[in-house]
Amino acid sequence: MLTRIQQAFQKAFYPDKCLACSLLFHAGERFEPAFSYEEYFNGSPVKIIYQKEISALFCPICSGEFPSITPPFCLQCGKMFKSPVADSHFCGDCIQKNKPFQRIRSAGMYSGSLMKAIHQLKYSGKTQIAKPLGRVLFSSFLNYFHDVNIDLIIPVPLHASKLRSRGFNQVMLMLREWPALGAMSFSSFPIIDYQGKVVIRRKKTEPQTGLGREKRRSNIKGAFSVLQPESIHGKQVLLVDDVYTTGATTEECAQVLSNQGASNIHILTLARSD
Ligand SMILES: [Zn+2]
Ligand SMILES: [Zn+2]
Repeated sequence: MLTRIQQAFQKAFYPDKCLACSLLFHAGERFEPAFSYEEYFNGSPVKIIYQKEISALFCPICSGEFPSITPPFCLQCGKMFKSPVADSHFCGDCIQKNKPFQRIRSAGMYSGSLMKAIHQLKYSGKTQIAKPLGRVLFSSFLNYFHDVNIDLIIPVPLHASKLRSRGFNQVMLMLREWPALGAMSFSSFPIIDYQGKVVIRRKKTEPQTGLGREKRRSNIKGAFSVLQPESIHGKQVLLVDDVYTTGATTEECAQVLSNQGASNIHILTLARSD
């Protein structure tokens, strides 16, 4: 009883500080420790989960509207179609070219508050954002990959020097809670390569920002190598990244996994820019 009163006092006098703009605010609905994961993820749209998670971290202004991805979109590369009249189908590019992946899906568009949250995590080192974003990513995983038997989950690796300067791989952090979340809905949950032992980023590349599609592709060529081909041979792999921009990085990584014998590669990212 006393602790509840203390908590109420604390809440009234010490509001939360917005992680994005430092404004003091009172977070609305908070994620309770006793919350049922099953109830939480069973059919809750990504948008609802995002808003619930982000409202505890960001003030109402920074929380903003979740930049949802809505059908119709390409069944393979996931790109949204401009015209909303048709059903989801394969885009011209995916019909013409042989792509090294089965399916790319993302939780939301790389804009607004989702972009802000990713920036705060990656560039301001606010690692406490990784867990809520990881839950958003997990709900997209359930939404889009419930019909696939994934054997292995691989976060797109960072180069050792990038890992040292940033201090963490943001995707690894987002995946930390997944086995606990997965235990609620799966009899056996796929292995996650937390140690980055399966595939590494060998080549240090220039930042891809500002480069065109073709330049990005040549820049990233040969950047990845598989260290443990035996652990991907004949396996269904889910490759996870934070942002999908032109796809140069993720697709190069998928191509290398495919060349080394993975049977299928699926890609999930938190956000996509196109
Ligand atoms: Zn704010
Ligand atoms: Zn496509």
